[in-house]
Amino acid sequence: MSRGLRVGSIFGIKITIDYTWFIVLVFFAWSLAFGYFPAKYPDFDKAAYMFMGLVSAVLLFACVLIHEISHSYVSNALGVRVSEITLFIFGGVAHLSEEPQDPVTELKIALAGPLASVVLAAVFWFAAGIANGVVNPLITAILSYLSMINVVLVVFNMIPGFPLDGGRVLRALWWLKSGNLARATAIASGVGRGFAYLLILLGALQVLRGNISGLWSIFIGVFLKQAAGSSYEQLIIKQALEGVKVRDLMSKDIVTIDEGVSVADAVDGYFLKHHYTSFPVVSFGRPTGLLFFASIRGLQKEEWPIKRVAEVMTRLEPADMLGPESAAIDALVRMFNKGAGRLIVVESGRLVGVVSRRDIMKLMEFKAGLRGM
Ligand SMILES: [Zn+2]
Repeated sequence: MSRGLRVGSIFGIKITIDYTWFIVLVFFAWSLAFGYFPAKYPDFDKAAYMFMGLVSAVLLFACVLIHEISHSYVSNALGVRVSEITLFIFGGVAHLSEEPQDPVTELKIALAGPLASVVLAAVFWFAAGIANGVVNPLITAILSYLSMINVVLVVFNMIPGFPLDGGRVLRALWWLKSGNLARATAIASGVGRGFAYLLILLGALQVLRGNISGLWSIFIGVFLKQAAGSSYEQLIIKQALEGVKVRDLMSKDIVTIDEGVSVADAVDGYFLKHHYTSFPVVSFGRPTGLLFFASIRGLQKEEWPIKRVAEVMTRLEPADMLGPESAAIDALVRMFNKGAGRLIVVESGRLVGVVSRRDIMKLMEFKAGLRGM
């Protein structure tokens, strides 16, 4: 989720706007200028509707930003660090680098955003009341719209399905009552998925009746369904790997190839014998590279006896290696970021093991099995 426009930072929180937001902004401005405002206030001219649509959409954008900053501000104040917010589609995604450690903290963070939206709705409602009959009625119309849309934001976000705010509230309350975070997350995600399916179904019915705006419901439903699934998976992975170190998972009996071996010998003595797709390469016991079978396939067969492993291997970068005391979750994150299947474990310059995604998955399956008993 790195694509987007960096707009700055507030309270030490970096704010990024995802490019999808601009599409949504244009869509909102357009549908307000051509649909909502002309229907509700038939007496203005076209230029006024365009102005109202654009200003309202930009201010709605600002309201969503204030909502998200409120979450992050409270979160940081309670010690759960948020370093970045990405705004997209209906709201924002705050990048929590850690999960709240207790349900009350989670409850406060979850409620901060909707509370900010309630305050905004009230402020715009009063402002519209004061402005009524005093300023250009077009301004009053914008203020009324902003008051109404903030109420919509509160209602939408308070739907009790994870990862929406209401889902977080539901999770926190269940967690508070039962003390079981995993169960609470499962329930809140389940409700979130159920709601997502409902949105998709309602959207599909609208489209079937010829109402194109049903596509929006489908779109939001699909997004919510994915978000509900992935936040649940992330939590399960984090929980399963809590306190696990690379040392506990790594394979220690590893087959390494020496840099000086010829490619022909590497094929005969290693690839054909052990059936791995890659081997760590060492020089005097120190890891220097990885030899992938794919790299050998790029060579002519006549070159095999002449070329040495050192010439064909992929040199190790610092990101390919980690220490045995590193957290397993960090290893997994690094593998996902790099697209690598395994990392080399090094202790005081010596190769001591290899940790693979499969090792980590096996542990998680084992733990899931234990929980199921
Ligand atoms: Zn929120």
